[in-house]
Amino acid sequence: MPSRVANHLHRYKKVDIGRNGKKYTVYKCMKPLCSHYIPMHLAEGKMCECNKCGDTMIISKAVLTHSGKKPMARPHCPNCIKRRKNETVEALADYLNAGIKPSA
Ligand SMILES: [Zn+2]
Ligand SMILES: [Zn+2]
Repeated sequence: MPSRVANHLHRYKKVDIGRNGKKYTVYKCMKPLCSHYIPMHLAEGKMCECNKCGDTMIISKAVLTHSGKKPMARPHCPNCIKRRKNETVEALADYLNAGIKPSA
């Protein structure tokens, strides 16, 4: 399939394709038949596939500044960000509950 327009939603991963010691960070599509990539500074507002749930998502400022002002290595959607936070809270609650078992 030469030069066919991509008919899929890209699933991005952050890679550095710079050469000769130069940094050039892009989001590259990880799908086997796709060689598409987009420079980080042009990625905002683009549609892609969430790396966790596979849903369609838009690369937002939040994605691009998520890990300490740096872009996420594997962008995932607001739902998955939220879910991860909730899991952390639940794990903490379990941990705390375990400490205060009623002595039966
Ligand atoms: Zn792609
Ligand atoms: Zn998701």
